[in-house]
Amino acid sequence: MNQTFFPLDSRLDVLARRVQQECAERFAEIDEIAEYNQLKVMSAFNENRVSENHFMGSTGYGYGDRGRETLEAVMAQITGSEDALMRHNFVSGTHTLTTALFGVLRPDDVMLSITGRPYDTILPVIGITGENCGSLKEFGVEYREVALLPDGTPDWEEIARAAADPKVRMAYVQRSRGYSLRPSITMEVMKKLVETVKKANPSAVFMVDNCYGIFTDTQEPTQVGADLIAGSLIKNAGGGIARTGGYIAGRADLIEQCAYRLTTPGQGKEVGCTLGELRGMYMGLFLSPNVVGQALRTATFASRLFEKLGYEVTPRFDEKRTDIIQSVMLGDSESLIAFCQGIQKGSPVDAFVSPQPWDMPGYDSQVIMAAGAFTLGSSIELSADAPLREPYAVWMQGGLTYSSGKMGVLLAAQSMLEQGLLRSMD
Ligand SMILES: *Cc1c(COP(=O)(O)O)cnc(C)c1O
Repeated sequence: MNQTFFPLDSRLDVLARRVQQECAERFAEIDEIAEYNQLKVMSAFNENRVSENHFMGSTGYGYGDRGRETLEAVMAQITGSEDALMRHNFVSGTHTLTTALFGVLRPDDVMLSITGRPYDTILPVIGITGENCGSLKEFGVEYREVALLPDGTPDWEEIARAAADPKVRMAYVQRSRGYSLRPSITMEVMKKLVETVKKANPSAVFMVDNCYGIFTDTQEPTQVGADLIAGSLIKNAGGGIARTGGYIAGRADLIEQCAYRLTTPGQGKEVGCTLGELRGMYMGLFLSPNVVGQALRTATFASRLFEKLGYEVTPRFDEKRTDIIQSVMLGDSESLIAFCQGIQKGSPVDAFVSPQPWDMPGYDSQVIMAAGAFTLGSSIELSADAPLREPYAVWMQGGLTYSSGKMGVLLAAQSMLEQGLLRSMD
């Protein structure tokens, strides 16, 4: 069937069928989670009486925008939170996280990251990199970090010790592996992290970077005790439909503080017009559980396929995932380039362009990226990135539909095959 529109090497086609069969059990688990979350979302829509007039949008200050208020009530219910902010005004995941960090932290507070070094773009926000750009550090917030153990798991003893300092106002966790090789944080581990921190320091705010994580499991961090979560709408929670934006959910007093930072002290959640963005945000949120399931299937398929082709992959296809990221150790620059060019060919948009490595600002090596997306920079849509340096790994994620995502992965393998780079074909 694959051959009709995208001619594949027949050996790859045969292998793909086998791989898909081997993934059947995992796919069934993914589909079950997607179904649970789909109904969780639909019941929240129903109970909050979502109606067509909520999609209208407002202009100007946006006072009394019922569509906005209802959307935020829906998001709060889905995440088991007291309140939420869900706005197109958040320009990125980083902006959303920044709003939460500056919203909650005050001078002389300590922010304690307990899952090692945060995602790259958060470093200048904290003040680990960059100078004179208004970082938390410049406002007197101290940053401390408990590194993960060499196997990528939390350092429980050290977390308990570091969190006990009464100056620690916030414990910070990144759920997703991001672009590292450590495992994502499962909700079982998250629950234990919450318990460890709260035992050592009951008044500390437990905040989670939930980017790439939402709807990959049946519970969100706020449902196992986290006080605050934040994520992007051009990743999971926007379902590939939201054109921009982010969400923060959690304790009502903290959401209020975040809202004062997003808009102004005093005005908070009461302002912020929605223009024409509400319909896409509602629709994207509704579709998100299914789209995340499709992306998880695509990542699982890629993991098993490339493992069979002789590559080290993380996570393995049958490992528990709580983010949508898959990495494959391809071993050399030529393979990374061929892989990304193949992924690009499996995109609905800009499939005819051929990505090339470039000197991306802030990186010490060249980087190649593949993305042919309806929404610029969207990574719930099929995309891949690889810095051309050790360990010569590619990180891929997304895929709005499994059929298209799977073909993208197969075209990546085909592209490597055509250049004589594929390791094994048994
Ligand atoms: C993507 C991501 C971010 C930043 O989001 P942007 O939209 O790229 O600014 C932060 N943390 C994690 C774990 C992410 O995956």
